Amino acid sequence: MNTEERNIFPVYHEILAREEKETLLKQQAKVIWLTGLSGAGKTTLARHLEAQLFQRGYLTQILDGDNIRAGINNNLGFSAADRFENIRRIAEISRLFLHCGIITINCFISPTDEIREMARSIIGKDDFLEIFINAPLGVCEQRDVKGLYSKARRGEIREFTGITSPFEAPAHCDLEIRTDLLTIDESVDQLLTLVLPAISRKIG
Ligand code: ADP
Repeated sequence: MNTEERNIFPVYHEILAREEKETLLKQQAKVIWLTGLSGAGKTTLARHLEAQLFQRGYLTQILDGDNIRAGINNNLGFSAADRFENIRRIAEISRLFLHCGIITINCFISPTDEIREMARSIIGKDDFLEIFINAPLGVCEQRDVKGLYSKARRGEIREFTGITSPFEAPAHCDLEIRTDLLTIDESVDQLLTLVLPAISRKIG
């Protein structure tokens, strides 16, 4: 059923245009989508990137897996269907920020090409920067930032990505960052090289 058949009539034309908000904020909104295993470095790099962008006058919002799952998506688990719904809602939320002129930095494992493609199609390919935050499973497991890998190995967490649930490396991403080979500062520099030209306001 389409929206009209469901008696839903979204209003777009009476709302201030995204471009007017981007002009106000002096930036181009984008969704910076960080995908990768737990412990690969998504949250760490998102925080550093946000600080760097803030210093340069850009307005951003980090959307992070655990925060979203603690709030708006607290009714979802880790089955394939729930992972899909989790990302669908996050993509819709990102789109709201996008239309408000705000840059989002998204930290989600988002484990399959199918899931990332769905996010890309909701957000729009021109506004979606897909960045693979990559460290080998062994490195992520050694870091074990939240102690989740040892729990998963002990069988205390079902469907844990990389252990009992698959992670597909992106088939096509805008950038791959090997966090096992680079320092945090080097990784942030790589991010800035991609992101800054994409978010700077084009005049005229
Ligand atoms: P994720 O959000 O992907 O689950 P985290 O950012 O929580 O991962 O954890 C990544 C860990 O790896 C942190 O302890 C961080 O200090 C460490 N680390 C080492 N090198 C890097 C790097 N180049 N980029 C990001 N994190 C790194």
